[in-house]
Amino acid sequence: MPTYAYACKDCSHAFEIVQSFSDNSLTSCPECQGTLRKKFNSVGVVFKGSGFYRTDSRDTKGSTVAPAPAAAPAPATAPAPAAAS
Ligand SMILES: [Zn+2]
Repeated sequence: MPTYAYACKDCSHAFEIVQSFSDNSLTSCPECQGTLRKKFNSVGVVFKGSGFYRTDSRDTKGSTVAPAPAAAPAPATAPAPAAAS
């Protein structure tokens, strides 16, 4: 849930509010009903840092890159041709 920061143009009242993406933006100041200026604040949404990408890439790298060749019957013991001549 992202946190949005608003600042009033009229009375300089600044505050933050947690809204979902589908919520309507606030437009009027709760203090003076003036015009609000919306500032997106990414404090509530952490896309990097905390090892988010690191853990994800490590999992995909280990599981998807090298499929095990299970259907390839490898000759384990090849008898050496001793009597070649
Ligand atoms: Zn205001």
